[in-house]
Amino acid sequence: MAKIMAVNAGSSSIKFQLLEMPEETVITSGVMERIGLAEGIFTIKYNGKKEETHPVLPTHAEGVALLLETLVSKGIVKSLDEISGVGHRVVQGGEYFKDSALVDDEVIAKIDELKDLAPLHNPAHIIGIKAFQHALPNVPQVVVFDTVFHQTMPEEAYMYATPYEWYEKYGIRKYGAHGTSHKYVSQRAAQLIGKPLEETKTIVCHLGNGASISAVKGGKCVDTSMGLTPLEGIPMGTRSGNLDPTVVSYICEKENKTAQEVVTILNKKSGYLGMSGRSNDARDVTQGMNEGDHRCKLTFDVQAKRIVDYIAAYYVYMGGCDVIAFTAGMGENLKHLRLNIANRLGVLGVKIDEKLNDTFSDERLISTPDSKIKLYIIPTNEEVMIARDTVRVANIK
Ligand code: ADP
Repeated sequence: MAKIMAVNAGSSSIKFQLLEMPEETVITSGVMERIGLAEGIFTIKYNGKKEETHPVLPTHAEGVALLLETLVSKGIVKSLDEISGVGHRVVQGGEYFKDSALVDDEVIAKIDELKDLAPLHNPAHIIGIKAFQHALPNVPQVVVFDTVFHQTMPEEAYMYATPYEWYEKYGIRKYGAHGTSHKYVSQRAAQLIGKPLEETKTIVCHLGNGASISAVKGGKCVDTSMGLTPLEGIPMGTRSGNLDPTVVSYICEKENKTAQEVVTILNKKSGYLGMSGRSNDARDVTQGMNEGDHRCKLTFDVQAKRIVDYIAAYYVYMGGCDVIAFTAGMGENLKHLRLNIANRLGVLGVKIDEKLNDTFSDERLISTPDSKIKLYIIPTNEEVMIARDTVRVANIK
């Protein structure tokens, strides 16, 4: 029995979950937000309770110290010695990291070196790692990269048709994202259909505020929709997804903006938000659609079409597909989007069971028995993957 802390540190937040391994039960979870601002928010769930306080958290170090103190003061752990390992989510591992890794100075330096590819995330992860190292100096720390699962993509899938020197000099290629989620969901899909992972072909639709689709053949990722950065792929909450790069220079000229400014608009003001003109939140856009707003309906139709474009391409690339799995906030909750997608896939023999699609429960099959591809909703669980890798990589008994 070992208690593992799974951590996702952002620039002003630390999400955490303490798991008992190998049972994979959650002992406590929560988030510290607004680190560095006048007043922070600390939310913690334990023993069926949820508590929120508003401490001042000048830096991540104070946040981690308060979290650990709270675990002991609330009796969640008797002593901090019970924590056997800390696993940290890291967004970008580039081509260097092909697996999760035990943290040492060299690993931290490499994560720092890769910050050009994830300027908002990697530096924040390092701050989080250092805060936990400081607070728990004798506990192994492991980094679990979002990109590792996509490192099995063949060259033909990850290369852009740009000058080859860009790849050699700057590492310009597809890296993908949400890999930990895609891995969890594809493994779980194989279990659910009772087929060995090595023989299973799954298309995972991770549809959250950030969204990506992956083709997973025999447990290995063979293609994914996100690219050098999370901007590539399908339209998302605020990101445009794919477009002709000429749009950037065109808007620069028309609106007297720099390329960086236009890319920021493509990342932060596009997608659901830009198209609907209402919100990046799918619930608001659904409400608009139900009220008859054309742009809201169009937002879903554009996204569903693009999702289906990927599914069709991945179906062909893998030579078939056993399961299409939906996960993350929209994948798990937006029944009309799933229906929209499934109806467009009729040509592949996909048949959604509308009743099952409408019924609220967590993990479930939503296709009919005669559907040629099974449709599942599989809530993602990145924390459990982080905890599993922490145990494996740090060899925790
Ligand atoms: P991320 O982790 O990328 O921030 P999430 O996986 O939390 O994103 O997904 C956020 C999206 O899921 C939002 O667009 C939100 O509207 C949508 N969502 C969450 N819950 C629901 C719900 N009950 N019904 C419809 N959409 C939902």
